Amino acid sequence: MRILVTGGAGFIGSHLCESLLDDGHTVVALDNLITGSTDNIAHLAGRDDFSFIRHDVTEYIYLQGELDFIFHLASPASPADYLAFPIQTLKVGALGTHKVLGLALEKKAGILLASTSEVYGDPLVHPQPESYWGNVNPVGPRGVYDEAKRFAEAMVFAYHRTHGVDTRVARIFNTYGPRMRADDGRVVPAFICQALRGEDLTIFGDGTQTRSFCYVSDTVRGLISLMNSGFHEPVNIGNPEEMTIVSFARLIQREIGGGVGIRFEPLPLDDPKVRRPDISRAREILGWEPTVSLEQGLVPTIDFFRRVAGR
Ligand code: NAD
Ligand code: UDP
Repeated sequence: MRILVTGGAGFIGSHLCESLLDDGHTVVALDNLITGSTDNIAHLAGRDDFSFIRHDVTEYIYLQGELDFIFHLASPASPADYLAFPIQTLKVGALGTHKVLGLALEKKAGILLASTSEVYGDPLVHPQPESYWGNVNPVGPRGVYDEAKRFAEAMVFAYHRTHGVDTRVARIFNTYGPRMRADDGRVVPAFICQALRGEDLTIFGDGTQTRSFCYVSDTVRGLISLMNSGFHEPVNIGNPEEMTIVSFARLIQREIGGGVGIRFEPLPLDDPKVRRPDISRAREILGWEPTVSLEQGLVPTIDFFRRVAGR
């Protein structure tokens, strides 16, 4: 197939491009580099089956030739990034998703939206099944991301119902791995890089809030299974192994060593208190579940940040 990956120069997007190429597809990556980097795809440059287009998906997308499938990943994704680019985040979720759906309709291509566990907000149901409608503060700082993704899901369903576009919605939970930006503010790069620099780990709040971390190769495999499934309802893609942020800090202290301490800082507004995917649907429909444990996934991730930091 010929496949377009928006956000293809980002963290998950670059791994997805690689997997699709490994599966024998031809890949076009499209990205405006607002939070991504061509460093992530430099090793793919020069291949006949790969091309890169620098473009903002909120502007009209003109693509020559046939297209079979679109993965729509373009969007700032870390809390620090979407707080730095609130209007761009709303625009890419709304206008960008509209443009990409228009392209899918024109090319008769399938399309997968990279949605997020943030559509569940600060959840009142735990763990979160796809049937839960969420608890989102539309006017809080995270609202720009959460509501953009909720709008994007609604738009995807409107194109499916109105125009019969062959759509998928993946609700991705916290994913980590090599090629995250050291300064993207997310807890995995933040703690690893602090430990490598010999600095205290900054826990926001009292650290009792929970997250469930999924290694990027598992997430990418889930996204590709969903593409191949023909299933239109939302599907959670994440790792159900849940832990508190304090336990995660302790794990990083053990894995990296160096005797770094912990510093407590204020909890950001609307920071979800718990998060864990119910992946029954992914197991049943896709036969998918994560296979990489946190301890295993941290090895290549820490190696990557050691190389980036030269430590
Ligand atoms: P990332 O920031 O590394 O990648 C996003 C990419 O989109 C970047 O390369 C960025 O430059 C590009 N982009 C942003 N706005 C654009 C625009 N207007 N036009 C073209 N390109 C644009 O983030 P990521 O972690 O790889 O996330 C990828 C997708 O997965 C995002 O849609 C995100 O919401 C979703 N997601 C990620 C996670 C996670 O834990 N990593 C969790 C839930 C959902
Ligand atoms: N967090 C933290 N210290 C940091 C960065 C994040 O304690 O230096 C916390 C954050 O408040 C949240 C959790 O770690 O409760 C996960 O944050 P992240 O930014 O990775 O993603 P989120 O799941 O909130 O989107």
